[in-house]
Amino acid sequence: MAELDLEALKREMTAWRRDLHAHPEFGFEEKRTAAFVAARLREFGLDDVAEGVGGTGVVGTLKRGSGNRAIALRADMDALRISEQSAAPYRSGNPGVMHACGHDGHTAMLLGAAKLLAGEGGFDGTVRFIFQPAEEWGKGALAMLDDGLLQRFPFDEIFGLHNLPGLPVGHFETRAGPIMSAEDNFEIVLRGLGGHAARPHSGNETLVAACALVTNLQTIVSRRLSPADIAVVSVTELITDGTRNALPGLARILGDARSFRPEVSAAIERQMRVIAEGTAAAYNVAAEVNYSREFVPLRNDAELVEAAFAAARNVFEPGNIAVAREPMTASEDFARFVDHVPGCFVFLGNGVASPPLHNSSYDFNDDGLVFGASFHVAIARQRLAI
Ligand SMILES: [Zn+2]
Ligand SMILES: [Zn+2]
Repeated sequence: MAELDLEALKREMTAWRRDLHAHPEFGFEEKRTAAFVAARLREFGLDDVAEGVGGTGVVGTLKRGSGNRAIALRADMDALRISEQSAAPYRSGNPGVMHACGHDGHTAMLLGAAKLLAGEGGFDGTVRFIFQPAEEWGKGALAMLDDGLLQRFPFDEIFGLHNLPGLPVGHFETRAGPIMSAEDNFEIVLRGLGGHAARPHSGNETLVAACALVTNLQTIVSRRLSPADIAVVSVTELITDGTRNALPGLARILGDARSFRPEVSAAIERQMRVIAEGTAAAYNVAAEVNYSREFVPLRNDAELVEAAFAAARNVFEPGNIAVAREPMTASEDFARFVDHVPGCFVFLGNGVASPPLHNSSYDFNDDGLVFGASFHVAIARQRLAI
């Protein structure tokens, strides 16, 4: 494509991105964002634009030629409940909500790719542009799947991307196999008998038991899982109903566990139940464990990873393309799609100086827009080659 066209598209994507940034919406509330996306897709002349897929999701369909293969390109649209610290003229106008994960950039890049592919074609088959809601909750992809995404808009494979702070702009990374972790949440409730702070022996208070339990939970990863398995068990909250001079009769321990294989997630839950019951028994209190699976692990299909690297060579300088050395212990709702069709998820640099994702000073780097849109276009043309 011509250099000039890309410059014009960059200006357009930057305007879209900043408009979306100024109007962030929390998961399943992306009404304005979805309407914005659907309006642009209709302007580009797509064959079909479906709104309200899985709540606020949008699916655009573009067909060229007679090929019967279909690929999906996916972006996420939701923002976070974080108060933005920024002096930018396009800073959040929605108090307490901000695009702190760059989903405004992901949406703008996929719109740019849709515009390019609708205008210039260069492929034979069907491209589905999937704009999903509620990625941060880990609920949006399932909502679209439950709404018949695969039956109504079938596709053979799916690609997605995320910006990555710390990686220079214009750099590309991915890896075959595990790339993002599962996320499980847990809550352990200890129940005893609270009482006077001066008379601990006359009740069964729960705070000392809770402290022992927090320590004992550290042995799941260090002593119960294979050193070859990557896992994290983090206790993030300890809440009691105690007060200055009253021992608590109730303690709640909350936390988050990450892993890359369902067997490891199952082992973490099993060990947590054993340790919670054993510790509770030792302190003469009762334990209840609530364990939930929020995100499934994301595994990249090896063949599609090769395809992604080949497409990246059309977009990125050869020295700026790398195999990610290790999987990340963060989670991605994209994994739900990959439970059904082969998929590949890739990372694009957001700049070395970029604040981290989910930080109140974070901002998507507009210099990355052309790279992301061009990667989407390159992978579509390669997988649906004429
Ligand atoms: Zn995020
Ligand atoms: Zn994100």
